[in-house]
This record gives sequence, structure tokens and C-alpha cells, in this order.
Amino acid sequence: MIDLHAHSTCSDGRLTPTALAARAAEAGVTTFALTDHDTVDGLDEARTAADTHGMTFINGVEISVTWQRRTLHVVGLAFDSRNPSLVNGLATLQKARRDRAARIAAKIEKLGVTDAMARAQAMAGDGQITRPHFARLLIEDGICRNNHQAFKKHLRPGRDAHAAIEWAALESAIGWLHAAGGIAVLAHPFGYGFSGAWRQRAIAAFADAGGDALEICTGTTDRQQEVTAARDAAQHGLVGSVGSDFHAPEQFWLGLGRLRALPANTQPIWRDPRFSEAPSDASQLRSRRGSQDGMDDALS
Ligand code: AMP
Ligand code: MN
Ligand code: MN
Ligand code: MN
Repeated sequence: MIDLHAHSTCSDGRLTPTALAARAAEAGVTTFALTDHDTVDGLDEARTAADTHGMTFINGVEISVTWQRRTLHVVGLAFDSRNPSLVNGLATLQKARRDRAARIAAKIEKLGVTDAMARAQAMAGDGQITRPHFARLLIEDGICRNNHQAFKKHLRPGRDAHAAIEWAALESAIGWLHAAGGIAVLAHPFGYGFSGAWRQRAIAAFADAGGDALEICTGTTDRQQEVTAARDAAQHGLVGSVGSDFHAPEQFWLGLGRLRALPANTQPIWRDPRFSEAPSDASQLRSRRGSQDGMDDALS
């Protein structure tokens, strides 16, 4: 079982890298990537934990990109996490994130949240401050009922607590990942609220910018979307990736590794030589391939 997209407390996930890896192993995941937003800080800890559970661990990150005034997410996999061009690129995003956090904090204080920046900082600890942290503050202070409402009413673009931010250029994010020997994946093509035409444009722009793969099976896709994405991938010469985008055990509808197999016409990302050359136990990866390839639609 392969899962190449998940979050820890280093960004907006609720489990530490160690606890996340343990949960993935318990769920039956055999090849696992941690992909926190704009940071590689959790990778060493997650790798150590994955090793103790006998899982193959793949370095991952989810890079925030601004393209055509919209946000895209580029998952990077199997890179050298110490590569200076990647590390420096992520550092610029982390600084932009901190600046934006202060602006969001000021806005939610106007809505009645007290001491927003200090509390967001305390909640995030050494990790990145993300919009879900501010959603939690809006809920804690009784301004919103739940996460969905916090985004819908306040944190989305166009709402009163949204703060504009310029993330990485698409070409930059892909360039950093390639410089670090990694693979660039356009995350969750159905996760941006785009029309079909914009989704097509985004995939084409990603492929033109040198991107390698499209995330086809996620924790929230249905089979029809996966078949559509597989066709898009084939059309643009992209291979296919799979990842739950797990953030928290409270997301009971979405489990680590609970993913369908890639549609039959799709080249799996784990056949990419960069993937198997990544620092991991390659023989283990090889022996696990057969089971995923032959897996039926296992999602109930
Ligand atoms: P950020 O990168 O700090 O802007 O936060 C983005 C994260 O917020 C995403 O990765 C999701 O985990 C979460 N998110 C974005 N939009 C929504 C939404 N409409 N409802 C719930 N969570 C969302
Ligand atoms: Mn997230
Ligand atoms: Mn994402
Ligand atoms: Mn994600």
C-alpha cells in the first residue's frame, strides 16, 4: 500500500511525524511520504520512525505556488532534503508565510479573536503557521462552528480574514525540486475549485514548466475523477501519483493509504528511476509493487 501525501505538526497536520508514521504503518502502508506545506523539517524524524516500522520512506514536501493569481500545490518527492536551492527556496516561502500570518492575525482580531498571533505561534510550535491554525482560533473563540465554516466565511480569498500572498512561481518550485534530484507532482487537480477549463490550463502549464506527475488518486477523489485525471496525465506525458492528503484522525472519512489503485493506463510514479534511487530500501519497494498494481478498487 502506497501513500505519498500526508501532513504532520510541522505544518497543518495534527500528528507528530513519529505518530503519523506509526499510524501509516498500522494502516498497512508500506511506502510512505511526509509532505508538509513548504517545509522539510519533519523528514528526518519521520524517516527514523518509518524505519522502525519497516516502511519505505520517501522524502516529500508540498510547495505553495502562485499561478495566474491562483494557488496551486506542487508535491515534491524523492529529493535531497539538504539541497541548497530547495532549502533556500522553501526559506523564502516560510518568511512569506510568517508575514501573512501576522496580517491574518490582525484581521481575525477584528472579528473578536484575542491575542491571535501569539496563540497561532504557540499552536504551530516550530512548525509552519497555516490557515487551519487560524480556523482553530476562530472556533475556540466561538466565532465559527467548524473548520468548513471558518474557511467559507472568513479565510477563503475574497473573505474578511483573507490576506493576499505571492507564493513561488510554478517554474521555481519545479526547478528547486529538480535541482534536488526530486520529482514534481501537481497535487489534487480536483482540489482547487477550478472549472474544467481552468483545471486543463493548470495541468498544461505544469507540464510545460517541466512537471513530472499528476496526483490521480487522493483521499477525496471518486473513480470518475481519477479516470479523468489519468486521461489528462497521459495527454500531457505525466506519470501518476497517489496520496491521501491525511491531516488528522478527526478526518474519519479519509484514511492513510485508503486509496484506489491507479487506472490501468497510467504509468506509476514509483517506476521513475529517481523514486527508486531515493535513499530508501529499494528491494522492499520492489517487492511491494506487485500488490498495489494488482489491487482492485479497495475503497468502500
Ligand atoms: P495555507 O497553505 O496556510 O493557505 O493553508 C492551506 C490549507 O488549508 C490546505 O492545505 C488545507 O489543509 C486547508 N484548507 C484550504 N481550503 C480549505 C477549505 N475550504 N476548507 C477546509 N480546509 C481548507
Ligand atoms: Mn493542508
Ligand atoms: Mn494541498
Ligand atoms: Mn496536502
